[in-house]
Amino acid sequence: MSQWLGLKSKNEFKERMKYSDEIIQRVKDATDIVSVVGEYVPLKKAGNSYKGLCPFHSEKSPSFNVSATRNGFHCFGCGKGGNVITFIMEMEKMPFPEALRLLAEKANIALPKQEENNRDLAAEKVRERLQAINEFAGKFFYERLISMEGQAARDYFKGRGFTKEDAVKYQIGFAPAGWDALKIVGQKAGFTPSELLSAGLIVHNDEKNSDYDKFRNRLIFPVKDNYDRIIAFGGRTLSDEAGPKYLNSPETLLFRKSECLYLLDMAREAIRQKGYVLVVEGYFDALALHHFGLENAVATLGTALTSQHGRLLKRYTTEVVFSYDADMAGQAAVLRGFEPLIQAGLNIRVLVMPDVKDPDEYLQKHSKEDFEGMVEKAPGFFRWWAQSLKKKFQGSPVEERMRALQGFVPMILQIPEEVLVQAACSAIESELGLDNRDLLTIVNTERKKGVRKTVTDRVELSDANSEALPNAKPLFGVGDLQMEADFLALLTEQNGEFVPWAVNELSPEVFLAENFRQLFEELSAGDIKPEQLNQVPELEPSFIRIENQSEKKHREAMLIDLAAALKKRYVKRQLADLKNRQAEAEKAGDVQQALLLAQQMVILKRQHSQEVESK
Ligand SMILES: [Zn+2]
Repeated sequence: MSQWLGLKSKNEFKERMKYSDEIIQRVKDATDIVSVVGEYVPLKKAGNSYKGLCPFHSEKSPSFNVSATRNGFHCFGCGKGGNVITFIMEMEKMPFPEALRLLAEKANIALPKQEENNRDLAAEKVRERLQAINEFAGKFFYERLISMEGQAARDYFKGRGFTKEDAVKYQIGFAPAGWDALKIVGQKAGFTPSELLSAGLIVHNDEKNSDYDKFRNRLIFPVKDNYDRIIAFGGRTLSDEAGPKYLNSPETLLFRKSECLYLLDMAREAIRQKGYVLVVEGYFDALALHHFGLENAVATLGTALTSQHGRLLKRYTTEVVFSYDADMAGQAAVLRGFEPLIQAGLNIRVLVMPDVKDPDEYLQKHSKEDFEGMVEKAPGFFRWWAQSLKKKFQGSPVEERMRALQGFVPMILQIPEEVLVQAACSAIESELGLDNRDLLTIVNTERKKGVRKTVTDRVELSDANSEALPNAKPLFGVGDLQMEADFLALLTEQNGEFVPWAVNELSPEVFLAENFRQLFEELSAGDIKPEQLNQVPELEPSFIRIENQSEKKHREAMLIDLAAALKKRYVKRQLADLKNRQAEAEKAGDVQQALLLAQQMVILKRQHSQEVESK
């Protein structure tokens, strides 16, 4: 019985009982299950029902069915099935009443208030209040924009190429310059200071023990969820004074920036239709694209793309086209976006815009069709990356380009599909002018070893490689390079606090890669600052890996482990080298030389007994 209802526990059954069958039925009837499910799963019409890939189990051919007539869903692969409410419960991990409320709200049906569950009710009340404050503030900002005092803000908006219609459509607003405009009217409207604080709209000043408006003299962009509710705000400053150019609401009970994308609420339909989503970096870029009719664009909210973003986008499409700024920061952001998106199973392409700094500027000069033409030609992620490295490595010796080639391996290992792995490898090789250099073989070898996640694993790998050294010179094991790159990347932690320690601990010779050794030398000499390492493309995979795999507090330990590993490797290589030379000397009959080398080996071993023995 409860299985049939799609209920998993007695508790859920009890919660359900709080509402009459009649009201539940009304909500179901008023809801189009195809469009609700369609927001999570791309659906295609198949006969009388709709088909898609099941969101509850992993599959390659669609066995997930949605029936509008039966008002339900069923998966023939994993057996999951239910109605629109149970679907939302599963997808959003919501209890029954919340799922019901969400759908009721969407369908404009008022639910009777329930008194039973006090705690739920209290939390729900807080959310409701926050929601009401946001709606209130959104209206307030909009009214200020169209009022007399909004003149400068309107001029600015217009100056950026937007119209009055845009302001209405996207509910653009203006936060007045004073310190308490919103605070005063908000309180008059019945919101308490603590409510306004928890909505992130006012800020508390400890010294003066007073509250003031967070957004002042700013153009305001409301951020909405998929149900057309304002959950946060962004503000662009209108003054030249100090202070950040862009300001976002802090995270609140309603708003998590790692799970939100600006304009996604309006872009979903277009994303589905066009088959891809354009991801841009800021409010104005997203607005500009929408303004010019490219309504499949969304923007991140002052944060890097996360795996939640990846999963969110996967609901609507399989392809992401990055359209970030053409500068170094934009490039780095694309690289950082790779992992969360590829892991969500999304295909990634990168738009390269000639001679302009961002999509906004491009569209001021060209047409929508030009833009879409560019999108069509946008290279896949790896081709794009190889192209940007190619510029850097042009004319450099094969070995150096080979090293660049190896930098790709950790990222290629994350591609879930074999066909895409092959495509990535050949794209990279052809861009770097290193055809048939067996990148695929290197990738496959690495894959067999398994994806190495911990420092210890990496050290073992490099030990294995050091057996083959020193004669096999030009190609280093991937693990070797990764270790060096990770170490350098970690040196940017804590504002470079660890650099003096590292310089004291290691000599530049521990680095096998010429470019890494040089970077370390320059760091030691103070020729470059630790934060400049952020701009080194070869280190980018390491930054990404570190960011994704280790918590901040573990990074110091990681750095120390890596230093020890680098040192150990260095000593081992030296020993191997001495041993080799000794053997050669013996072969050549140079007994004296052989003895000398043997002595050196003993000394070296003694000096580094710790490193050598602690295998
Ligand atoms: Zn299934």
